[in-house]
Amino acid sequence: MRDARTALCEYGRRAVGQGFVVGSSGNLSVRDGGLVAVTPSGVPLDRMAPEDCPVVDLSGEVVEGALAPSSETPMHLALYAAAEDARAIVHTHAVFGAVVATTRTVLPAIHYNVLLFGGRDVRVAEYATYGTPELARNVQAALAGGRQGALLANHGSVTLGLDLDEAFERTRILEWLCEVYVRACGMGEPRILDDGELADVELRMRY
Ligand code: 13P
Ligand code: ZN
Repeated sequence: MRDARTALCEYGRRAVGQGFVVGSSGNLSVRDGGLVAVTPSGVPLDRMAPEDCPVVDLSGEVVEGALAPSSETPMHLALYAAAEDARAIVHTHAVFGAVVATTRTVLPAIHYNVLLFGGRDVRVAEYATYGTPELARNVQAALAGGRQGALLANHGSVTLGLDLDEAFERTRILEWLCEVYVRACGMGEPRILDDGELADVELRMRY
């Protein structure tokens, strides 16, 4: 898991650099077979060394590393269990995602890029205390049906990917969508793409 732990440090620095996390908020993980490398709890994501990142098995048992795994490890493991293809997860407290997650139950289709998340909107998972199995269940429910990203009520966002690069790029796009939506709401009622318009884009994306 050496490469995975090194990648967590690289993308942790990017998450801080992009302003998606402040302090020790947010967490990332990479899955390789029956093992998951995850960021340590309470450590700023730009100040980790690869050996700081614990490796856990799919039941959450630490198999390598001296630091405690992220408090959201139950959520990461629940999402890997539900999405067999997923190999990386990015969870941040990026501002515009958190704003939408504090004021709405879905991010509606203000732009065709919502389709990149596997549906015609992006769901907001119901609120639960951070780090709890209840939050893990709520996020799992928000991602049901093969969704690749969700917002977490009064908290932040989470995205999946085939690798950290893909999961991180999804976080960037989701944050951009949320920023467009929040700014559009500031100018009035945003127009939402209708089912026919979204179906046309879905057809185009297939080719
Ligand atoms: P950890 O530092 O334990 O990963 O917690 C940060 C966080 O974002 C909790 O939701
Ligand atoms: Zn969090």
